[in-house]
Amino acid sequence: MIVIMEKDYLKKDLNLVIDRIHREGLRAEPIIGVERTVVAVVGDITEIPEMKSNLEETPGVAEVQRISTPYKLSSRQVQKEDTIVDVSGVKFGAKNIVVIAGPCAVESEKQTVETAIAVKKSGAKVLRGGAFKPRASPYSFQGLEKEGLKILSKARKETGLPVATEVISPEDVELVSEYSDILQIGARNAQNFPLLKKCGKAKRPIILKRGLGETIEEWLLSAEYILEGGNKNVILCERGIRTFEVATRFTLDIDAIPLTKNLSHLPVIGDPSHGTGKRILVKPVAKACIAAGADGLIIEVHPNPEQAKSDSPQQLNFSEFEILMREVRKIARADGRKL
Ligand code: PEP
Ligand code: MN
Repeated sequence: MIVIMEKDYLKKDLNLVIDRIHREGLRAEPIIGVERTVVAVVGDITEIPEMKSNLEETPGVAEVQRISTPYKLSSRQVQKEDTIVDVSGVKFGAKNIVVIAGPCAVESEKQTVETAIAVKKSGAKVLRGGAFKPRASPYSFQGLEKEGLKILSKARKETGLPVATEVISPEDVELVSEYSDILQIGARNAQNFPLLKKCGKAKRPIILKRGLGETIEEWLLSAEYILEGGNKNVILCERGIRTFEVATRFTLDIDAIPLTKNLSHLPVIGDPSHGTGKRILVKPVAKACIAAGADGLIIEVHPNPEQAKSDSPQQLNFSEFEILMREVRKIARADGRKL
């Protein structure tokens, strides 16, 4: 349920609305936008049938609407304006397109710093690199963990690029937050509810990948856990879902980009590296993501992809990445946006 305030509401009217919500044991989330101020009622209202009329009678209230979707705080019905997530001055969800690039996994200082310098030169604004790797097999490379985080910090120092890295367990949220500017929740953890809740309390923005088998509604409910915890800085990432098609690693759901942007105010980026799993498909699908309205991309880049310890078939080398950026820039420009 949302309470839409009159244009000229008084501060005390807003406080009264919030009080009335609190009195029912529910949470009130005021969203003060440029166009309008609304208060989202967060919690289960099914047992309080008189709630709607009580709020409608409160001074300063223009209208009370029920929200038809199970997710509330991530819904466009609650907040009409786009959320802009600011990561050390890099803005996701504003008009410009932001590209995050870097290796799948941090393997060494040399590999990470070299990649950071190269991707920055081509126009990436954030460095990625996994220190904790969620691998399908326990025998695969699991990441350098804390040492990997330290390497990412060095790469940030060398290039000035903010860093995004994955956190795979709730116990590591604080540690990863000390080293990283953005926390990534991977596809395999998209419904790890303790992790989502912990990230709701984190001080860092979150990239929330879509789960391999998540519907868009479930993905937005995963985002809801983070927003509900108080962290409003969530970037959604479409990274492909599992379908019957085995010719590609996953199926990047292009429809999900404009649809999710329509359903939610959160920024949405595309991940054509994991979405396709194939080097030759990364550039065309990156262009498709931007043409479909994505706010950015996350691309895997490695100095020598053939030697990569993880996701070797989908990582680009430096010159392939440079070409991708050039072509993506053209699509952005055609759409009246910049990269
Ligand atoms: C990654 O970004 O390297 C990764 C593991 O992604 P995903 O969770 O989308 O598979
Ligand atoms: Mn990867």
